Amino acid sequence: MAHRQFFVGGNWKSNGTQASVRELIEQVLNPTQIDFARVQVVVAPVSIHLQFARSLLKPEISVSAQNCSLTGPGAFTGEVAAEQIIDLGLSWTILGHSERRTLYGETDDVVSKKVNRALAHGLSVIACFGENLQEREANVTLDVVARQLAALKEGITDWSKVVLAYEPVWAIGTGRNATPEQAQEVHAMIRNWLGTNVSAEVAAHTRVIYGGSVTDQNAAQLIAQPDVDGFLVGGASLKPAFKVILEATN
Ligand code: PEP
Repeated sequence: MAHRQFFVGGNWKSNGTQASVRELIEQVLNPTQIDFARVQVVVAPVSIHLQFARSLLKPEISVSAQNCSLTGPGAFTGEVAAEQIIDLGLSWTILGHSERRTLYGETDDVVSKKVNRALAHGLSVIACFGENLQEREANVTLDVVARQLAALKEGITDWSKVVLAYEPVWAIGTGRNATPEQAQEVHAMIRNWLGTNVSAEVAAHTRVIYGGSVTDQNAAQLIAQPDVDGFLVGGASLKPAFKVILEATN
């Protein structure tokens, strides 16, 4: 089996003040004892805190944007372009988060084009996708995930710069996580899909992380699954529980 470095992302969403960001970094993130050769750690503050968070975090922890524009710099009020994220010295963005898809109308096609543009400008991408509750209950999870992956594939020019974040929508912010078996089932399908539709090399090396109500209580069981390479953590990444989640990869 290929060695894949674990990956844990913290998605802070539209939360925090400068004071709370400082407290989280100084009291939870910077003191956490983990082996950074085994786990890559990336946190995503709100865009106006990107530079502030970068200035406080220890260098082993990377900073990511939560979104990035489909357009370049210019007359696009409210948008942040890949070029501007790169200009801050940052190298990651989340794209395709379910909140962007459901609340801001980002389609598979828009997400794919954003991924393409972000990669073209030198960013690495945490690409999110996953089924909603209705789709899970209708037993079409694997079809939905395959459709989302096919759209992402259109935009991906360099798989080594992409982390795939499987985030079942019914598990995000609900306190209801996928069981380790449910997560493993979909992660194995994703790896199989990559092997069939991209290459054996990409299937073996691409990190597939799980997101959806990951906590200090369930992280160890989830990470024990062979195809779960880490997490994208929302709510718990704002709390001391994030330290326990990070240490679950040790
Ligand atoms: C997320 O927003 O990516 C997420 C997984 O949130 P939570 O951990 O709060 O479910």
